[in-house]
Amino acid sequence: MTNIAVIGLGHMGGPMAANLVLAGHEVTGFDLVPAALEAAHARGVRAAVSAQEAVIGAEVVLTVLQTGSSVLALYAAGILEAAPPNSLFIESSTISVEDAQAAHALVLAAGHRGIDAPVSGGVVGAEAATLAFMVGGSDEDFAAALPVLEAMGQRIVHCGGSGLGQAAKVCNNLILGASMIAVSEAFVLGEQLGLSHEALFDVASNASGQCWSLTANCPVPGPVPGSPANHHYAPGFSTALMAKDLGLAEAALDHVGVDAQVGRLASALYRAFTDGSGDGLDFSAIILDVRARSEERGAAPGDN
Ligand code: NAD
Repeated sequence: MTNIAVIGLGHMGGPMAANLVLAGHEVTGFDLVPAALEAAHARGVRAAVSAQEAVIGAEVVLTVLQTGSSVLALYAAGILEAAPPNSLFIESSTISVEDAQAAHALVLAAGHRGIDAPVSGGVVGAEAATLAFMVGGSDEDFAAALPVLEAMGQRIVHCGGSGLGQAAKVCNNLILGASMIAVSEAFVLGEQLGLSHEALFDVASNASGQCWSLTANCPVPGPVPGSPANHHYAPGFSTALMAKDLGLAEAALDHVGVDAQVGRLASALYRAFTDGSGDGLDFSAIILDVRARSEERGAAPGDN
């Protein structure tokens, strides 16, 4: 049993904290939103009145916030001083490599240990404790974090030193965003050529076009009954989070000078879609945007 503080009890942090409780850990949580704190409390998390109070006595501090600036602001607001010396900070928000490394430096300077450990698997994976963790940090800190991560996830990969968990996450989501657009464009092209969704799915899911965007999160209703397309594109993984992650990918591309035209275009398309009609939808709804832009170019009205 480990004393664990969880700061950020939203869509991901809430169920992650609940799974730590189910694994037998003593979990204290804090969230700025009272409803999130109450929901976690109902699942066995002790509710603290502040982040500083939550980390008193903690051996492990897990943060699951939205952005890098939130993480750095939280770290600057007294929790590093309030936590016992040599606490293990597990930072599981999706943030830039630079912010992750800056956060790590603050943790070390305050006499603690730390890893970056962003996740994939979404809310479903957070609830089912089947998340994938991509970890950056030392061998020792990875080994210390492993039993805690195993209570929340199934696949835990040590990617290298500080920041390299976030690097893996950003690379993975560049693939994901670009592949979802490619799959969507292929379905819309198929529609215009008279090809049924089922026929294209049967071919591509068993051929070289096979990918997660097609076989798990298929952007048309029918072939994959559980995909958000069957539920009016309710997320799932929202367009806003995809736009955010592709923005992080772009920042990383700029930082190291990599030419990635498809990734940059994917980022621009998701940003425009999120700012417009795609807000609040699953990222597979980008197919609606592909259809709308195709109709503007003279394509026949699409299938849905
Ligand atoms: P969320 O907005 O639901 O949760 C974040 C929570 O942090 C909120 O409840 C907010 O009130 C709280 N918070 C912010 N600042 C705080 C502070 N100073 N003290 C205490 N609480 C604070 O976001 P989420 O969907 O849980 O995502 C969390 C992270 O995980 C993001 O970085 C996201 O990109 C990443 N992620 C999300 C998904 C997903 O499907 N939702 C999948 C993979 C990764």
